[in-house]
Amino acid sequence: MVAGRLVYCRPAAKDWDVLPVFADYPAICAIVLGIKLSSGGTLATIFGRKHDISLITPMTKLAILEYPDPRLRKTAKPIDVVDDGVRQLAGDLLETMYAAKGIGLAATQVDVHRRVLVLDVSDERNQPLVFINPEIVSASGRGPGEEGCLSVPDIYEKVQRATHIRVRALGTCGQAFEMDAEGLLAVCIQHEMDHLEGKLFVDYLSELKRQLIRRRLEKERKQRGDSRAGSGVAIPGAPASGVAMPRTSRPAL
Ligand SMILES: [Zn+2]
Repeated sequence: MVAGRLVYCRPAAKDWDVLPVFADYPAICAIVLGIKLSSGGTLATIFGRKHDISLITPMTKLAILEYPDPRLRKTAKPIDVVDDGVRQLAGDLLETMYAAKGIGLAATQVDVHRRVLVLDVSDERNQPLVFINPEIVSASGRGPGEEGCLSVPDIYEKVQRATHIRVRALGTCGQAFEMDAEGLLAVCIQHEMDHLEGKLFVDYLSELKRQLIRRRLEKERKQRGDSRAGSGVAIPGAPASGVAMPRTSRPAL
């Protein structure tokens, strides 16, 4: 992370604050919100801003849909205005992603079909990013990388993707930004953007492999006594225990 200035908007406030914190990404606007979420603290506890506490709505862990749930195939709609509802969604996505020990999550995966995704590929789990209406501006290079997905628990396969991308999006203050990404971050952004189009990483595999994966997931759901066994469907509003929990140390998206 490069030292710089962090543009920070309070979740429910109209004015912005500019804080001298790390950040070379305007998207990091979301980081303050994210630190609060991942630590269980609040903005006030981090920055001594007591007046912010009343502005924060508690974040909610949402149920993650599992493959082959047909709702994962819906195309997400663009966000017209980045308002408190969208910021709440971003916060809920981060909360859900951290609880599931994932490194990325798209709104589609929690059955909200809006173009919002969140990521945190840092080792410390303290650098959340929020992308609203993301678009790939340019892409170059191509290489295989191993991917997992919170909606396809415990399955990891190699997928070919662009190795360098430039992405444009809105941050949680509604500000447009562009950023360059490579390596794991580039893979994550592309993986999550696929979710917004109703596409899953298993779509890049052969039909035979997809069938094997479907069967394996069904068997695992039965073994863990999941009442959803056979349907492949996560129940909306189900408690956090109903989400896909990775049982390996490898990150999922
Ligand atoms: Zn995924």
